[in-house]
Amino acid sequence: MTKRIGITGGIGSGKTTACRIFAALGIPVYYADDRAKWLMQNDPKLVAALKDAFGEKTYDEQGLLNRPYLAEIVFNNKEQLSILNGLVHPAVKEDGIQWDEQHQATPYTLREAALLYESGIDQLLDQVITVTAPEDLRIQRVIERDGLSAEQVKARIDKQWPEEKKVDLADFVIHNDGQHSLIRQVYQIHQQLSKSKE
Ligand code: ATP
Repeated sequence: MTKRIGITGGIGSGKTTACRIFAALGIPVYYADDRAKWLMQNDPKLVAALKDAFGEKTYDEQGLLNRPYLAEIVFNNKEQLSILNGLVHPAVKEDGIQWDEQHQATPYTLREAALLYESGIDQLLDQVITVTAPEDLRIQRVIERDGLSAEQVKARIDKQWPEEKKVDLADFVIHNDGQHSLIRQVYQIHQQLSKSKE
């Protein structure tokens, strides 16, 4: 059976960059965070549930998700955030299971999610890879990538599980610290995962 592998890591750790290398090696990658955004716009069941929970204003007149409105509701309100996650995370899980069914002709598939453990997606997976990098470097990378301030990046980091916890739970760890070759580490894990199917 095709193994289901998860890949996670804090903001700016380099998950997506690592996934691009796996994808170049022919491995199908499911980007859970991007897919969640897509489902919030396009999954009729989820759209209806979000309207029920947060009101008609959740979508504008054209039917587009009103992100600033939703962000305002859940920002700094744990209860509302957990209601939102309680609707979105199961939808992503279900969607991921269907995606898996379409990708059987490969030694393993990869599922990328920043909140892999936090959302419980890890329970569906055979093994998990954590990408880690020193916090200063992560902050620097996100400032350069997204144009955020250091404080804004730190606020996001504080909302995620500590990196060490993800490292402890992982089956494989990629050190994307600028000192160790990212390509080499990805390739070694790829070789192990490709072998272990037999
Ligand atoms: P997020 O959780 O915010 O989506 P991420 O973990 O997916 O972040 P990436 O987007 O892969 O992180 O990387 C963050 C930024 O750092 C990107 O601009 C990427 O190009 C850069 N980056 C990642 N790894 C390296 C590296 N080894 N060398 C140089 N730049 C890197």
